[in-house]
Amino acid sequence: MNLILMGLPGAGKGTQAEKIVEKYNIPHISTGDMFRLAIKEGTALGQEAKSYMDKGELVPDEVTIGIVRERLSKPDCQEGFLLDGFPRTIAQADALENLLADMNESVDYVLHIDVPKEQLVERLTGRRVCPTCGATYHVIFNPPKEEGKCDHDGAELIQREDDQPETVKKRLEVNVEQAQPLLDFYQDKGYLVTFDGDRNIDDVFVDIDKKLGGLVK
Ligand code: ADP
Ligand code: ADP
Repeated sequence: MNLILMGLPGAGKGTQAEKIVEKYNIPHISTGDMFRLAIKEGTALGQEAKSYMDKGELVPDEVTIGIVRERLSKPDCQEGFLLDGFPRTIAQADALENLLADMNESVDYVLHIDVPKEQLVERLTGRRVCPTCGATYHVIFNPPKEEGKCDHDGAELIQREDDQPETVKKRLEVNVEQAQPLLDFYQDKGYLVTFDGDRNIDDVFVDIDKKLGGLVK
């Protein structure tokens, strides 16, 4: 099951990914999470990525494609994968097509979560994440059981640096510009499935789950 999640920042990709991964047992590959981990570990990759991420800009294609190539070659990707936050440019999408062709694989679905832009600022500025396990919450829409603490491991939840209002606006601008050509690219290939993401988290998942059920042998 080779899947790509698409949608603007805040659309609910990470939230739905948690559910898909739990049910279908494929690795969740988030380029944003990989960059954040590299920053935390203080690697050269992390230092380079940080200079772009802090401004809400995209990390250059060569760097991003390189880390995805390496990740997809790992054994846990043999039964499939869920890409989240990649590809974000046509150059990345082309590179992914080539990479998969080399592995005798192809994309099954591009799951596009569609949410009106006006709602995204509120979703992003209210987002809180677990620094240990990566679980995502929202102060209003998806609060943890105990305020400020992760349901899974009790760690103190944090706000991502790029979820500050100013960076959020810049990220949305950059992403709106880049999203349409990618949606067109995958529509042309016949992979694109669009879901109405302007509903509660469980209702969105029911629809995604129905679609994915068809892929299971
Ligand atoms: P993305 O990975 O697409 O940037 P997230 O999954 O991190 O988005 O979701 C952004 C924020 O919105 C989080 O705080 C999350 O809890 C919340 N959220 C996700 N899906 C929904 C939904 N269907 N309705 C309301 N809030 C949501
Ligand atoms: P969100 O979906 O909430 O914007 P991500 O966690 O996917 O956030 O990405 C955070 C940042 O990491 C982006 O703003 C960008 O700087 C960088 N990044 C993530 N994925 C890519 C990608 N495919 N290409 C270039 N930069 C990326």
